[in-house]
Amino acid sequence: MAPIRTGAVLLRAHDYGDSSRILRFYTEGHGLLSVVARGVRGRSGKGTATMATFATGQLTVFVKAHRDLHTMKDFECTSLRHGLGSDVLRFTGASAAAELVLSHAEQETHPGLFEALVKALDDIEVAPMSDRAGTILAGLWTLTEAFGFAPQIDGCIRCGEVLEDTDVGRFDLAAGGVRCQACSEAAAGPRVGPGARRQLRALLRGELPPDLSHTRQHLALLEDFLAYHVISKPLKSLRFLGDLFPREAVVAP
Ligand SMILES: [Zn+2]
Repeated sequence: MAPIRTGAVLLRAHDYGDSSRILRFYTEGHGLLSVVARGVRGRSGKGTATMATFATGQLTVFVKAHRDLHTMKDFECTSLRHGLGSDVLRFTGASAAAELVLSHAEQETHPGLFEALVKALDDIEVAPMSDRAGTILAGLWTLTEAFGFAPQIDGCIRCGEVLEDTDVGRFDLAAGGVRCQACSEAAAGPRVGPGARRQLRALLRGELPPDLSHTRQHLALLEDFLAYHVISKPLKSLRFLGDLFPREAVVAP
């Protein structure tokens, strides 16, 4: 059997037996793959240093059909992502991205998800200090979009009316989008004014809005949206992130 070679990001690793490790990769060609790397932990083990979480590179693996665990031949690391390990906010943001992909990706591939994951990790690693929270939000929203679950924010989710630039709507979590002002009267979701919608639109494109504010509220919205539409149980690292994001006065943007 010939091995396949594919771009891959290491999302999780744990020891297995005396000398092996189980590695969970998100791969470009085959989605989420669990592989066993044999003999990598002994003194003679090769490549242990490059097996750190978030390491990105080329994975060569023997993939067996209808199996959950495959056998790694080789992992050629092109980026170790040291920058993520030296900063707790960056590390937690990257962990949230990994947890999101692990909790939803299963084995099917989602077009664009690999690229979105690599870009999110790249951006989180190098963002200026003041942009870290926004960069993490943008990364997590682009992953959500790559899963096919982007929220609807331009037209009202209930009546379809395009929201005016001055409209303050409400986010309808169950429906997965924003309600216009008229449809918001009886709704209970979080308020989303024009500023918040503009910011959310940019984040969904993976861009950092220059005036981004209220990152904690943005994170709470993302967390609720994921809980409703994407994942079956809350992501632990999102809770951590909430505590690490900057505090601001609570005023709707
Ligand atoms: Zn409406």
